[in-house]
Amino acid sequence: MKILVVEDERKEGQFVAQALSEQTYTTKWVGSVAAARDALAESPYDVIVLDLGLPDGDGLALLKEWRESGFNESVLILSARDAVSDRIQGLNIGADDYLPKPFSVDELVARVRSLIRRQSGGARLTGWEREGVSLDLQARQVTVEGVPVELTNREFALLELFMQNAGRVMTRTLIAEKVWEASYDMETNLIDVYVRRLRQKLESGDGKARFKTVRGSGYQLL
Ligand code: CA
Repeated sequence: MKILVVEDERKEGQFVAQALSEQTYTTKWVGSVAAARDALAESPYDVIVLDLGLPDGDGLALLKEWRESGFNESVLILSARDAVSDRIQGLNIGADDYLPKPFSVDELVARVRSLIRRQSGGARLTGWEREGVSLDLQARQVTVEGVPVELTNREFALLELFMQNAGRVMTRTLIAEKVWEASYDMETNLIDVYVRRLRQKLESGDGKARFKTVRGSGYQLL
C-alpha cells in the first residue's frame, strides 16, 4: 500500500510519513502542490493525506484538479481549518475523509486503514490466508502453518501485494510501483533479491513452493 503525504510543515510531514511507514505502508512525503502533482504523475498511490495550506497553492484546488482529471485515489484532508463549512467543502470536492489539526497520530493511522479497507470492497478486511500462509493486517504479523515469521517492513509490504493479488502475475514494474516509492528505473535486481528472501522465509517452514518465477516478467504467488 502506498501513501502520499502532502504537508509543507517539515516536522509534521516527516512525523506523519514516519508513523505510516511504521505500519509498513510505503510512504512518500512532499511539501508543495508542485511536488504533489509530480509524485502523482510519476506513480500511483492508494491513499493521499492532504494538507490544505501549501506554500504554492491550495490543497482544495489541487484535489478539485485531481478529481476533474479522473484521479480516484482516496484522499484524507488534514487541516487546521476545522470549521464545519470547510469540512463540507472538502468532502463535496471529493475528499474521502477530513481530520482537523491538531490530530492524534493513532487516529490518523486508523482512518487511513479504514480508507484502505473501504477500497477493498467495503468488507472488514483483516488480512489474507493462502496455502498455510496468513498475513494479519491489524497485528502486522505473518505466520506459516501457525508459526510466526519475522519480516522487514518492505518484505511485509511485498507479501501483502502478492496476497492481495494471489494467482496473478506481478510484473517487476508493478512491484516497483506498489512497494517502492516511485516508478523510477530501479535495479530490478533489487526486487529479485527481496522475492528470494521472502521465498526463503516462507518456504523454510514446510518446504512448499509458494512463488512461481515468470520468466522475463515477474512473479506469481501460487
Ligand atoms: Ca500547511
